[in-house]
Amino acid sequence: MTGKTILIVEDDGIIAARLHDMLIRFGYTALEPVATGEAAVAAVAAMAPDLVLMDIALAGAMNGVTAAEHIRVEFDVPIVYLTAYSQAAQLERAKATYPYGYLIKPVAECALVATVEMALQRHVLDHRLRKSEERLALALWGADLGLWDWDIRADTITCNGPWAELLGCQPGALQLSYEEWERHIHPRDLAAVQDALRAHLDQCTPCYQTEYRLRRKDEDWIWVLLRGKVIARDPRGQPMRVCGIVMDISERKRLEEKLRRLAITDPLTGAFNRRYLLQVMEREISRVQRYARPLSLIMFDIDHFKQVNDTYGHERGDVVLKGIAALARERLRHSDIFVRWGGEEFMILATETDLSQALALAELLRTALRQSPFPDVGAITISIGVTQYRPNETLDQWLKRVDDLVYQVKREGRDHISYRKMEH
Ligand code: GH3
Ligand code: MG
Ligand code: MG
Repeated sequence: MTGKTILIVEDDGIIAARLHDMLIRFGYTALEPVATGEAAVAAVAAMAPDLVLMDIALAGAMNGVTAAEHIRVEFDVPIVYLTAYSQAAQLERAKATYPYGYLIKPVAECALVATVEMALQRHVLDHRLRKSEERLALALWGADLGLWDWDIRADTITCNGPWAELLGCQPGALQLSYEEWERHIHPRDLAAVQDALRAHLDQCTPCYQTEYRLRRKDEDWIWVLLRGKVIARDPRGQPMRVCGIVMDISERKRLEEKLRRLAITDPLTGAFNRRYLLQVMEREISRVQRYARPLSLIMFDIDHFKQVNDTYGHERGDVVLKGIAALARERLRHSDIFVRWGGEEFMILATETDLSQALALAELLRTALRQSPFPDVGAITISIGVTQYRPNETLDQWLKRVDDLVYQVKREGRDHISYRKMEH
């Protein structure tokens, strides 16, 4: 019928001969029956049959169940047991060896063919499934992806090995409830993660994608990218199952952060750059207008800096620039934004700071500088403008006002602070 090769393991010679005849009649290639477990293992090793009909109770040292287990593990050949009603206890043990069927002796022809055919077919399908699972696992492993599968009604999220490892757990599948899974999300990312999920569950987005900080078992945080889709809905459209992948993107996030810092930082002094100040000023001005909070801007320009370069060289000039930046930064609050505005011009945006507080800070800087002479170069002085933001002033108006003040100090002789325009 199928041309498949079948081995009979049966210590009752009459039963073995009967089964052999039946198989031949139905078109199978039936190998010479064997009577012991040891002979069965040897025959499978030598002739690689497609299926083994195995008597559970065999005479000899190795019984049918033990032989079957060997054959399953070592050769992946499907087993169909031959059993008698009296062997209930052994049947229990046999179950643990994943057999493809049981035939009760005496075996009827139709039962034999149906059982053998189904076992052969199921074994092919099992093999295919195992191969495809293996391929999937390898692909996930190669791509560093974790897999998750959320059964919404059962409230379980099943995560495969790599994902369990991301959570710092033992490798192997892991099951979490939705609430437990949320506990691994950084509190500051939680709202965004929930919004993205809700939007997808409500069918507003074609897939669920989010990046967030995930807490591992050992309490450290890593960045992950999570992507998934609803794969089953009930007849009313309610989502029932969501599946997707997860990957560790911490390295990418670190690089992004580094690039972001580089893009807003002046390389020589480590101060923020002009682009960043303008961004922050826009934001702060709108905040100040809304909440009527004080906001001040201090600008200073080094006096006669060209002479420093001309006399001591450009490199020494750089050292002075760095030194002044360091000295200023030491005296600022964490919330103050310190910026290199241009060549030897600096700005300080001081939040929650009114004019008199900003003047005090400016005076502190001026005095500190005067008291910290640079080797060879000597004391450096600066000309300072101090302003508090005025309601409804534009950013450009405010910048011009502070720049005018510095210019005014220069005209008046430098090394001084101005906060008020001269009357003409
Ligand atoms: P004033 O008191 O009027 O401000 O005089 P000044 O010499 O400081 O001003 P000026 O604008 O004439 O010259 C500024 C100098 O700053 C000229 C420029 O070469 C120098 N400079 C700008 N950027 C750098 C830098 O990154 N390193 C060094 N060493 N010098 C710089
Ligand atoms: Mg200058
Ligand atoms: Mg200048």
